[in-house]
Amino acid sequence: QSQELSQVQIDYHAALQALVEDGTRMVCTGRMHTDRICRFESLCYSTEAEEFVFFHSNASVMLPNLGSRRFQPALLDLSSVEDHNTQYFNFVELPAAALKFMPKPVFVPDVALIANRFNPDNLMHVFHDDLLPIFYTMQQFPDLDLESRLFFMEGWSEGLHFDLYKLLSNKQPLLREQLKTLGRLLCFTKSYVGLSKITTWYQYGFVQPQGPKANILVSGNEIRQFTKFMMEKLNVSLEESASEEYIVVFSRTINRLILNEAELILALAQEFQIKTITVSIEDHSFSHIVRLISNASMLVSMHGAQLVMSLFLPRGATVVELFPYAINPEHYTPYKTLATLPGMDLQYIAWQNADKENTVTYPDRPWDQGGIAHLDKAEQERIIKSKEVPRHLCCRNPEWLFRVYQDTKVDIPSLIQVIRQTVKSKPGPKKQKWTSGLYPGKVRDAKCQASVQGTSEAKLSVSWQIPWNLKYLKVREVKYEVWIQEQGENTYMPYILSHQNHTFSENIKPFTIYLVWIRCIFNRNLLGPFADVLLCST
Ligand code: UDP
Repeated sequence: QSQELSQVQIDYHAALQALVEDGTRMVCTGRMHTDRICRFESLCYSTEAEEFVFFHSNASVMLPNLGSRRFQPALLDLSSVEDHNTQYFNFVELPAAALKFMPKPVFVPDVALIANRFNPDNLMHVFHDDLLPIFYTMQQFPDLDLESRLFFMEGWSEGLHFDLYKLLSNKQPLLREQLKTLGRLLCFTKSYVGLSKITTWYQYGFVQPQGPKANILVSGNEIRQFTKFMMEKLNVSLEESASEEYIVVFSRTINRLILNEAELILALAQEFQIKTITVSIEDHSFSHIVRLISNASMLVSMHGAQLVMSLFLPRGATVVELFPYAINPEHYTPYKTLATLPGMDLQYIAWQNADKENTVTYPDRPWDQGGIAHLDKAEQERIIKSKEVPRHLCCRNPEWLFRVYQDTKVDIPSLIQVIRQTVKSKPGPKKQKWTSGLYPGKVRDAKCQASVQGTSEAKLSVSWQIPWNLKYLKVREVKYEVWIQEQGENTYMPYILSHQNHTFSENIKPFTIYLVWIRCIFNRNLLGPFADVLLCST
């Protein structure tokens, strides 16, 4: 035992010596605070000051070295939500010599991923802002493996869904509060700070009204790789066998209720001749819900965070999102955007309550549950009369909260009608091959030959070879797009062609230089890259 202790002592002294001599070393990726992730050796954290500490020595490295731009506004975003001013990361700097006067550092041996969760009590936020970004940040850096440890610095307690975070690594994630119990000065041997935003698809409306992100970079494939991982960790196996089909109604039991849920379930079961079941976060375990959803043909639910569970639906299934009165479905599309990501292969249907008679409002509840009693009378009147919530910013718009926390009696015939417009026979999982959509490469060996007839007519014969990858693919339809541009002009003549050569004679002038651009198109919408431009003189 004493040997073990001395072993630790030796390691400790070695680690301390390394810290004092080498200081902190940081190298980051990303050009701006919004896309930066940093790798550190010997990053420290003072649990008393609640600040990260960068120790300078002869061997310390700080890349990027931003000077005071490090505070404009921060080194990086600690959460996956872009440029949110409560989620910034920075450190204070000290000379390594100051360690002599500081509490003895406690070393964290595990490779650490240090980040903020954005809203751990809301299931949409849990998946979209935390779990997916953590999963893919870990994929980006090989030493963030299952033996690494997550550190959540946002300051929340575990929250309602902590079990989900625990699935991402074999070590128990640690919260900011818990760091105090470990020591006054913690030093992370090796750590990564920040989260990848590459998988997020929605912006919540902090600077402009909420909506899909401008540049979505994730497809259903990556989402499904993540859900596969989660299901394995949850011990939920995918039932490939054609077991009985069913519809899941995901109900809310506290607010934003479906008032005629029993009637709705009967109607769905009757209309589609399929078993229909309900689940809720309050009444079912998470793995039970995942098990059910991952084999469902259709998921029906009120707008709300529980709909993020459509992540787990099988390909071909249908998502039906119900919106309360005066909430325009087009303005709130986190779940529509998810369902319609390329390769998610889900059908999405929105239904809105258009009948004021069928809504139940709660003007006297607290403001955060949609109450409006605190507003002046004229404003209350206006809200109650309004037929649609105007576009607004997050997160405290009283008219939005008032409307989104209404209960709804669903008009069954109108709901069945909108579902029927999309789902013709029985709903979901179609035993269809899902074509993945691969893009053509460049066309090859493009050549042109000109011929001049007299002083006013000319012809241009252009030929090329198929893209290299085509011979390995089964493609339904292969076309070529050719642009012919007179040198020095801004406009061009576009052509769509089926063959690998063509003679152009319309609008071709003699003694002129043309630029010819050629690309291949698979199945009408998979546009390949243009080959190097071809210069042709008539
Ligand atoms: N929630 C729930 N049942 C309810 C009300 C809320 O399961 O009756 C869950 C909801 O899915 C989310 C969290 O509680 O994970 C917070 O709900 P809130 O209404 O604040 O957010 P929203 O669903 O509108 O995103």
